[in-house]
Amino acid sequence: MARYTGADCRQCRREGIKLFLKGDRCYSDKCGIERRPYPPGQAGKKRPRDSEYRVQLREKQKAKRIYGLLEKQFRNYYKLATRMSGITGENLLRLLESRLDNVVYRLGFAASRDEARQLVRHGHFLVNGRRVDIPSFRVRPGQVVAVAEKSKDLTVLKAAMISSSKIEIPGWLEVDVEKLTGKILSLPTREQIDAPVREQLIVELYSK
Ligand code: SF4
Repeated sequence: MARYTGADCRQCRREGIKLFLKGDRCYSDKCGIERRPYPPGQAGKKRPRDSEYRVQLREKQKAKRIYGLLEKQFRNYYKLATRMSGITGENLLRLLESRLDNVVYRLGFAASRDEARQLVRHGHFLVNGRRVDIPSFRVRPGQVVAVAEKSKDLTVLKAAMISSSKIEIPGWLEVDVEKLTGKILSLPTREQIDAPVREQLIVELYSK
């Protein structure tokens, strides 16, 4: 699957906020946006004009970057959200939150979504007892995500658990740190999604 391979900190600097893409480093004084709090590139320190289109575009880019998606994947989620009942923007965020890689990250089994994606791809997680190695797999309420038995002693997983102890587990998930399992209690409400995204602006952008 295609994915962004450039520098993560550059993405935060472009959006002007911490997107927490690098695990531990994001909480340290090595954080790129704290060291260089201006957009990357030659014209970085010049402030661009805030047109309506630009504001909407930046909001969409920010959401894509938070969830680590490319344009086509992101737009597909949008299209799916428009076909669902309810508020399109909220549906979009809910779909993004239901991705298995996001859930693994939210449960604290990985220090970042990027790391969660790698771990899922390498087959370290089961959903309801069956191995799932597709990061975009959509979890449903009632399902249980578990670390595969053979993966429980992985150093990378242990390091991720320590690192992600700074992450608060949202109320729509329940984790058992002893058994290394997590349950999806429900899909998240908008209030339970802490992504700093104004989803209505994304809907306005795509509706043009
Ligand atoms: Fe963003 Fe983390 Fe890099 Fe800071 S360290 S700029 S939060 S990716």
